[in-house]
Amino acid sequence: MSQRLSSISVDLDSLGHYCRIQGLSEGLLDERARALVWTTAVPRFLELFSAVGTAATFFVIGGDLAEPGLGEALKTAAASGVELANHSFSHDYALSRRSRVEIEADLRRAHEAIVNHTRVTPVGFRAPGYTLSPAMLQAVAALGYRYDSSTFPAAPYWLAKAMVMTALAALGRPSRAILDSPNVLLAPVQPYRPSLDAPYRRGDAPFVELPMSVSPVGRVPFIGTFATSMPWPLVELTFRRLRHVRHFNFELHAIDVLDESDGVPAALVRQQRDVRVPATTKLARLKRLFTWLGDDRERVTVAEAARRLDGRLDG
Ligand SMILES: [Zn+2]
Repeated sequence: MSQRLSSISVDLDSLGHYCRIQGLSEGLLDERARALVWTTAVPRFLELFSAVGTAATFFVIGGDLAEPGLGEALKTAAASGVELANHSFSHDYALSRRSRVEIEADLRRAHEAIVNHTRVTPVGFRAPGYTLSPAMLQAVAALGYRYDSSTFPAAPYWLAKAMVMTALAALGRPSRAILDSPNVLLAPVQPYRPSLDAPYRRGDAPFVELPMSVSPVGRVPFIGTFATSMPWPLVELTFRRLRHVRHFNFELHAIDVLDESDGVPAALVRQQRDVRVPATTKLARLKRLFTWLGDDRERVTVAEAARRLDGRLDG
């Protein structure tokens, strides 16, 4: 039987992207807040990875590389063995609704920005807002990538997002988020080879899809905000329910190691409640979980998980 794998990945969304999804003006971010992801979150994650001795992956937004500081922080990360992968150029939440040509141009632009700033060649992609379309998977294939890791087959997440978007629209403050097709709720929860015509079904794409982890029962999403802000007994219970999965794909965001005292604006904290949890508490929880992920599985980058699983998914 093959060794069970786990991957820790962090989407490096800067705070401006949170303002957009929460319907807030990016003008409320000062210079410090705009740079928090690379000045503060990235070094905290690197320290944590090194303390635990784990491999990890950063998903990088190409457009953010225009900001001073991100490129250098990523070079330091890559030098310590962290994989750098593509999280689109624009982080447009509606990217999946654009044409094949527009999507491929966005992904290529991000790919080139990452190569130019870090000398690292990405081999994987994660969609903004976790929303896929056939055109998006075709663009991933055109780039010759080894994997996509965007499927988020979490029922509570989909329902909560539907409700929040309806509420924001009713308040006259529509979110920039878009709601994925409910087909995502039927997607496989473990690594699969997707169909280029139907991303949430099995098919013959030239790469693998690595869904983010949700619990086998109830499809509760085991992601960073859940792990850092829900009652610890629930976190531990959900973690144990995932004990037997083939690939534990633990997805986090840079904001998962930040708090209000770091300079996250109060207006954003009000809507992003997990930011109220002190960063020291969140880091202590993550340290414990990252350690557990290595207890009975091998911790590898998302790219390495894709390499090992590819070829074992058919039949
Ligand atoms: Zn993102």
